Amino acid sequence: MKPDQKPDIKPDFTPDIVVVGGGLAGCEAAWQLAKRNFRVRLFEMRPFVRTAAHETDGLAEVVCSNSFGGEGDTGAAGILKAELELGDSLILRCARLSRVPAGGALAVDREDFSRRVSGHIEGHPFIEVRREEVTDLPPAAVIATGPLTSPAMARALQNSIGDRYLSFFDAVAPIVTRESVDMEKAYTAGRYGRGNDYINCPMNKEEYLAFYEALIEAERVLPHPGESQSNDTMLSGKDAYFEGCMPIEVMAARGPDTLRFGPMKPVGLPDPKTGREPYAVVQLRQDNKEGTLYNLVGFQTGLKWGEQSRLLRRVPGLENADIVRFGVMHRNIYVNAPAVLDEYLRLKKSDLQENNLKESNFKENNLNESNLRESSFIFLAGQITGVEGYMESTAMGLAAGVNAARLLAGRPLSPWPRETAIGSLIGYLQGAETGEKAFQPMNANLGIFPPLPQRIKDKRQKARVIYERALTAARVFWDDL
Ligand SMILES: Cc1cc2nc3c(=O)[nH]c(=O)nc-3n(C[C@H](O)[C@H](O)[C@H](O)COP(=O)(O)OP(=O)(O)OC[C@H]3O[C@@H](n4cnc5c(N)ncnc54)[C@H](O)[C@@H]3O)c2cc1C
Repeated sequence: MKPDQKPDIKPDFTPDIVVVGGGLAGCEAAWQLAKRNFRVRLFEMRPFVRTAAHETDGLAEVVCSNSFGGEGDTGAAGILKAELELGDSLILRCARLSRVPAGGALAVDREDFSRRVSGHIEGHPFIEVRREEVTDLPPAAVIATGPLTSPAMARALQNSIGDRYLSFFDAVAPIVTRESVDMEKAYTAGRYGRGNDYINCPMNKEEYLAFYEALIEAERVLPHPGESQSNDTMLSGKDAYFEGCMPIEVMAARGPDTLRFGPMKPVGLPDPKTGREPYAVVQLRQDNKEGTLYNLVGFQTGLKWGEQSRLLRRVPGLENADIVRFGVMHRNIYVNAPAVLDEYLRLKKSDLQENNLKESNFKENNLNESNLRESSFIFLAGQITGVEGYMESTAMGLAAGVNAARLLAGRPLSPWPRETAIGSLIGYLQGAETGEKAFQPMNANLGIFPPLPQRIKDKRQKARVIYERALTAARVFWDDL
């Protein structure tokens, strides 16, 4: 659509609910609502207001890689897709129709994909697409404005939930599974003998210098074109790293010893095998309550994922590490979900929402006041909830859409079963793994599912058991809906 074209306004269209953001999550949420016969007004600000990464006017534009991850029963990405299929996900359906060859992964022709989604959404009699930026929180809505939420909407959210609960930058260190760390080489210890909570991977001088050389030569992910073009100071400054969040490659560029005096400091961590402090140490800290995941302390990085993989394999003890989440450094607006979202992805009530509701025009969304008084009617969906990834964002769109539809129908909400991938992501957002203080975005991985009663060493076999358990729970859930 060209900026001078009229938005697609349907005459006499009275929406039941508003969806803000026509990305992966917003389109999925709108679809789930419309297929349950609710009328949706979907706001998408492009092309009139642009983001730093989107390049087209199409709905559901895939901004970077064209891969939606693995399929099948041998990984969390496959489990999530199987659940999305059970939920009749529009995004998954269109992705499969736009598939291009990519081995075991689901990769799409991004233009064809966006065209298909746009066709379904714009052509749906119960969905009206408005090309407008939304700058305030509507009284009843699904907010799916993504990691590049417009500054005005980010401010509205900030005003509602409080400054400290909205993050603008994602600085994440890689996370590995505990069972893939070679404990013959690594050892548990806290600095200066304080407890045994950390796993320490020791390096001698030779190993450290080789690691350092590889690190300074490693390729970084280039900032997306235009990523620093925001005119809002709150969202700008792609190289202005937060204190304590400096990427390791930036630290390393300051000299060979910077890391040894920073995150790789060996002081107070003698290796029990030698009784001496190593030359350098990579520390791993527990990342979930079950103790199945560990993050690399201070190792936030914007290196390409292949480079991260190669580098980590150079660390003694991590040669065969199973990396469940790579490090990232990018603009990413997300809420502190454990603090502000309930288990149905609704914003917990704040005073501001109370006022909004009182002042709003309830006729617009066919809701009665008592329904709203009992529960906040602002759902979040997509990456902004604190998940990471195309399919994860879609899943949070599906869950928000289904939950919003149930609320509109005056039916009780049911929590997503915890054994499912969607339930595990929501469980993660509820702080099941990290709590409120250490919350950072997460993608679907086997480590966030509840533990199995039995220990299974083989990763593929374990995934299959988790897959069966998830799909059984998901089928029962959808049958009950
Ligand atoms: C630069 C970048 C690269 C990424 N690369 C990958 C990758 O390779 N693989 C991967 O799995 N994930 C990637 N992600 C993470 C994430 O999966 C995607 O961003 C995904 O598109 C998120 O889906 P979403 O629906 O939450 O947001 P989006 O798909 O971004 O949709 C949000 C929509 O809301 C609109 N909008 C924003 N504010 C307003 C407003 N106030 N009013 C109206 N409309 C508004 C935007 O224009 C946009 O269309 C990347 C993220 C970023 C920022």
